Amino acid sequence: MPSARMLEVRDLRVEYATPRGSVRAVDGVDLDVDEGEFVGVVGESGCGKSTMLFAIARLLSPPAGITGGSVVFHGQNLVTMTETELNALRWREYSVVMQSAMNALNPVLSIGTQFQDAIEAHAKYSAEKVRERSVEVMKLVGIDPIHLRSYPHQLSGGMRQRAMIAMALLFTPDLVIMDEPTSALDVVAQRSLMVQIKELQRQLGFAVIFVTHDMSLVSHFSDQLLVMYAGQVVEVGPTRTVFDSPAHPYSRGLLDAFPSIRGPRVPLTGIPGSPPDLARPPTGCRFHPRCPVAEEECPANEPALYQVGSVQARCLLHAPDRAALRAAARAREEVAS
Ligand code: SF4
Repeated sequence: MPSARMLEVRDLRVEYATPRGSVRAVDGVDLDVDEGEFVGVVGESGCGKSTMLFAIARLLSPPAGITGGSVVFHGQNLVTMTETELNALRWREYSVVMQSAMNALNPVLSIGTQFQDAIEAHAKYSAEKVRERSVEVMKLVGIDPIHLRSYPHQLSGGMRQRAMIAMALLFTPDLVIMDEPTSALDVVAQRSLMVQIKELQRQLGFAVIFVTHDMSLVSHFSDQLLVMYAGQVVEVGPTRTVFDSPAHPYSRGLLDAFPSIRGPRVPLTGIPGSPPDLARPPTGCRFHPRCPVAEEECPANEPALYQVGSVQARCLLHAPDRAALRAAARAREEVAS
């Protein structure tokens, strides 16, 4: 069971410098991760989830940069650390599994050589210990260690992703950050990899932050779910609660956009339209142009995160002062007409 707090992200902001001015891709995100916890982060492409992940891992490069907030990991703020200080933590205390193993792995080096390079960059191991540890992690992820001699293109997509996960576990870190690691796989390989990640987590006790656009994928694996839209958290809470009764219309839309592994067959509906241009986000609630239950107060008032039972949702339907907001919206309309 999750125990002590490991990671505390507060008011994290990331901006991209563009010819049209700066674009805030992550806007005031808070996130807590406890030891051994599995946190799912979901949202469509362009909602800021991968940017947030890279900001947490301090892997952003220009034109993107952190412009505010803190990322406190084991009591230390990663945002203010130097590269040398970060290098002492990367791989050993936290590691990252990228979306596409084909891009993340070096195509001209064998898997074993890449493991060796990663180990030697962060520890002083004898050649024998490097070999021993490489064999161990390959076995952990269910790949025959003979493939340490293989090159990335000689492995299947699923095996490459497993090799990436093995590499991320070389030093048994406390936190593994995963950016859509299953997105290039077919449904069966996706499911099998998810089961394996969960089993490794049970065995080794590391925490996971897992980013995906497919909400149903994390439904049976994550403890906590964070739903992001237009750079902001729009719903956060225990995964089961968000699935059983989503408090935000966007979470509901995401749920309806993917087939559920269990339950009766239902037609998939999806969410009309596309995420907004973050250089010019909509006024008021950023989801209002696409929201099927938008009300007159939504375009004029930016919602906060409101407590709704055990979850928090950024939707005015849950605002304690909703009647006052609505009256103000009507008054504004009357003045304008
Ligand atoms: Fe929809 Fe309004 Fe809630 Fe935004 S605040 S999600 S537009 S109901």
